[in-house]
Amino acid sequence: MCFPCIEEKVTPLLFPGEVSRVAEKVTGTMRKMVLIYSAQTGVLEERGKVVKSDAEWRAQLSNEEFRIARKGGTEPAFTGKFNDFYGRGIYRCICCGTDLFFSESKFDSGTGWPSFSSPVDPHNIRTKIDRSLGMVRNEVLCARCDAHLGHVFDDGPPPAGKRYCMNSASLEFLPL
Ligand SMILES: [Zn+2]
Repeated sequence: MCFPCIEEKVTPLLFPGEVSRVAEKVTGTMRKMVLIYSAQTGVLEERGKVVKSDAEWRAQLSNEEFRIARKGGTEPAFTGKFNDFYGRGIYRCICCGTDLFFSESKFDSGTGWPSFSSPVDPHNIRTKIDRSLGMVRNEVLCARCDAHLGHVFDDGPPPAGKRYCMNSASLEFLPL
């Protein structure tokens, strides 16, 4: 066997188009799945993670929603549309529509941000240590699209004692 033939077999030539197809295939097979509870069906469903570019999120969200939900911002206290709102329904992620909180879990914490005692299901959120602003807090994110929702604290009402302190801008409300 001649040397050039071996080399061709080991490293086949890739044209630009082929390279991008390979990349797409890798992206497709790597798509992460998560279990999300659906309030509509009442069961956990397997869903693909929602991943979008900043440009795509900007096209979908208002400037304020983008700054808070995609860039970890915080709305000023007592300014959010759900702070003093007590309609009956379900709060969902502004970015991907994942069910997050039932109105039954909302309570007046007096902090100026919409506060909830528990999520619709632990699968629908994830938490991460946030060491910004000289504090150690537990950041709350949407489990499906990683939107920044707010923080969770241990000074909530019994029995769980949790206070999910959310940004109105990261939520949408669906009346039931
Ligand atoms: Zn989401």
